[in-house]
Amino acid sequence: MLIDLHTHSTQSDGTQSPADLMRSAADARLDVVALTDHDTTRGWGEAARAVRDVGVALMPGIEISCAVDGVSVHLLGYLVDPLDAALLGELEHARASRRTRAQRMVERLAPDTGLTWADVKEQFGAETTIGRPHIADALVRRGVVASRDEAFASYLASGSKYHVSHYAPDPALATRLVRSAGGVPVMAHPFAGARGRVVDESVIERMADAGLAGLEVHHRDHSDSEIGAGLRLADRLGLLVTGSSDYHGSGKQNELGENTTDPAVFDKIVEEATSGTQVIRP
Ligand code: AMP
Ligand code: ZN
Ligand code: FE
Ligand code: FE
Repeated sequence: MLIDLHTHSTQSDGTQSPADLMRSAADARLDVVALTDHDTTRGWGEAARAVRDVGVALMPGIEISCAVDGVSVHLLGYLVDPLDAALLGELEHARASRRTRAQRMVERLAPDTGLTWADVKEQFGAETTIGRPHIADALVRRGVVASRDEAFASYLASGSKYHVSHYAPDPALATRLVRSAGGVPVMAHPFAGARGRVVDESVIERMADAGLAGLEVHHRDHSDSEIGAGLRLADRLGLLVTGSSDYHGSGKQNELGENTTDPAVFDKIVEEATSGTQVIRP
């Protein structure tokens, strides 16, 4: 059984539509794939409609952008009720703030790069959760940088003078929201220092107190020592351990199935959900 519990589509900053992503999951011989777009569940329907055709089960999920003292934390929420009012309110707040933030970043970038909001708007659809990768794609299109990676290493880095942050809830609050929406919260790439500052263990303890179910320990942004620390922390706090690719299509190097989750852990996540949202099986 190959189970990959973290991927992105064009509903956020992935480069494939949900249906194309499902086809790629079949090509990668996955048995289960979770669609976990940033701050939106809008891709679920299209992905679900592809399940029978491609023969891969869909775990409906989301990756919620959170922050503590300016440090970004990502929370995966599996099998939430997509219509839960409290969760939707928080997501819409973050999504609106992401749009304003992108516009402010473009204002800062314009004098030095010639970038316009019209350039960036071409990179996403009406319902897309807007992120720095869309600004990166516009910079690539303009010939300012060669790739998303190059954009993130320069103009879009969190310490860059062009960077602006957006509203994001506290991760313990988001953990409670996922639980109250009947879902199962798992902290994404908890120790991924390669992508910027990370929170210390006291924040993860607060999330555990708020109902956290698991840690995504097996992820390409973790070093061997970070994996070791993650396994020890999960053991100490009684949390499940997952592994996933965090696939973004051609927007990142991550390949489907490069990290996977144990079937017994997958079963526990499914058992813990109370929302009525279900895994869609072929
Ligand atoms: P944002 O949420 O708008 O602050 O942008 C962060 C997102 O950009 C994360 O979800 C990452 O998946 C993506 N990202 C971060 N670094 C890179 C990179 N070097 N290349 C491509 N995408 C990246
Ligand atoms: Zn992303
Ligand atoms: Fe993430
Ligand atoms: Fe992700």
